[in-house]
Amino acid sequence: MDQSFDVAVIGAGVVGCAIARELAQYRLRVVLLDAAGDVGSGTSKANTAILHTGFDAKPGTLESRLVRRGQALLNAYGPAAGIAIERTGALLVAWDAEQLAALPGIAETAARNGYAAARLVTADELYRREPHLGPGALGGLHIPDESLICPFTTPLAFATQAVVNGVELVLDSAVQLVQRAPDGAHVLVTPRGMFRTRYVVNAAGLHSDTIDRLFGHSAFTVTPRRGELIVFDKLARPLLRHILLPVPTKLTKGVLVSPTVFGNVVLGPTAEDIADRTATGSTAAGLASLCDKGRRILPGLLEEEVSAVYVGLRAATEHADYQIAFHPEQRYVCVGGIRSTGLSASMAIAEHVADGLRDAGLALAPSSDFRSVRMPNLGEALPRPYQCADLIAADPNYGRIVCHCERVTRGEILAAARSPLPARSLDGLRRRTRALLGRCQGFYCTAAVAALLAEASGQSVAALFGLPEPRT
Ligand SMILES: Cc1cc2nc3c(=O)[nH]c(=O)nc-3n(C[C@H](O)[C@H](O)[C@H](O)COP(=O)(O)OP(=O)(O)OC[C@H]3O[C@@H](n4cnc5c(N)ncnc54)[C@H](O)[C@@H]3O)c2cc1C
Repeated sequence: MDQSFDVAVIGAGVVGCAIARELAQYRLRVVLLDAAGDVGSGTSKANTAILHTGFDAKPGTLESRLVRRGQALLNAYGPAAGIAIERTGALLVAWDAEQLAALPGIAETAARNGYAAARLVTADELYRREPHLGPGALGGLHIPDESLICPFTTPLAFATQAVVNGVELVLDSAVQLVQRAPDGAHVLVTPRGMFRTRYVVNAAGLHSDTIDRLFGHSAFTVTPRRGELIVFDKLARPLLRHILLPVPTKLTKGVLVSPTVFGNVVLGPTAEDIADRTATGSTAAGLASLCDKGRRILPGLLEEEVSAVYVGLRAATEHADYQIAFHPEQRYVCVGGIRSTGLSASMAIAEHVADGLRDAGLALAPSSDFRSVRMPNLGEALPRPYQCADLIAADPNYGRIVCHCERVTRGEILAAARSPLPARSLDGLRRRTRALLGRCQGFYCTAAVAALLAEASGQSVAALFGLPEPRT
């Protein structure tokens, strides 16, 4: 047996990281296991990045309650932890008489969900607020608290805070088998060894049903719901002020146009149920349908340059609500089916899970020195390092830009390679600094960025690209 823990959290997406962070506040031995080589590298890195109010959730559901609570918790936690959040508000736009007629009902639903600030707006007000909106909008709903959030920093902040407070993070460790020791403890079998633990939390996202079956349950099956998105260049950003939402349907929140905290504009996502849990490639049909919808919402957007497309897979199930189930007799919690709102709800899910673990007999004694963290700001709304004279005076590396599209400095890349959760790959560096995320997608700076990361992290450039080492 390699090591013994009080709690093992399987899955280091935004949900598992939030749970690990929550548990790090107590005197517990916690291990956070992930199959991948970095935290937040599954669905959590490929979403629309909106901090939802939960105005349109189904009243009375667990999702509705946890999204509302999660938004409040993240709004309180985010600024101090360095997570970029921008309160742009959203406009839900009705394009036909049926959608217009649905708006009062949506405002009523919002109120039943505990969100009272949604307000009907006329077509005149819509066009005053959004002069570039396509013709034909009939009216809308203003939701002033819908916000943009950095999807990358959020799980990284949770995981970093967990790690600096003693949680053991073990990457490249897919849980393949679960055994029961004679004393009732669970033994998780992974390629990185066996982990003995009293309690298990399953936060394995798209594979949460597979793990659930290892514990003998079959309450739900994940059917990945593919969402494709198009990222437009920063020159498109002045085209809109709010998140522009469609009237939601039963299946999906629909295709929206939204600014991002990085200063881009995103169009998407599609919603298509598929069988393959790894199918994160884009499709011609999906992108074409987005362009059609985007042209209607914001015609000028389609004239702008596209920087990138990306695809995320929602962990949808046959049920309309989150699949969070406590099994105290097994000392096991399943956190599955966190489909479209898990980023917003993450901290509330973590709080809910901790309460359930306490009810299941886990002693939660607060630790005396829970340390806070402050992550580097990746958002455009606050100063970035290249704009900070004091920082540059203290360390000139922050005055040397390496990735020019995103204005990422040598100092940030070095810091990311040496942080408590160091970047070990170019993808990991992208999510920690924005390097390579810009309009050139690394065409100009990949060589310089990779050389710097290799030097700072003690890896070879070949290893960063997964290539064989050159012969000397
Ligand atoms: C297109 C799209 C748009 C979205 N937009 C928003 C939005 O605007 N706002 C919002 O709040 N939410 C949004 N979401 C939802 C949000 O992204 C998800 O709810 C959230 O990321 C789920 O996090 P997770 O931790 O449950 O899953 P994941 O991020 O997938 O993490 C699960 C982790 O488990 C690991 N794992 C799997 N199997 C094993 C195993 N056997 N052993 C060890 N580890 C394992 C994986 O490697 C992965 O890292 C969107 C989702 C999509 C796809």
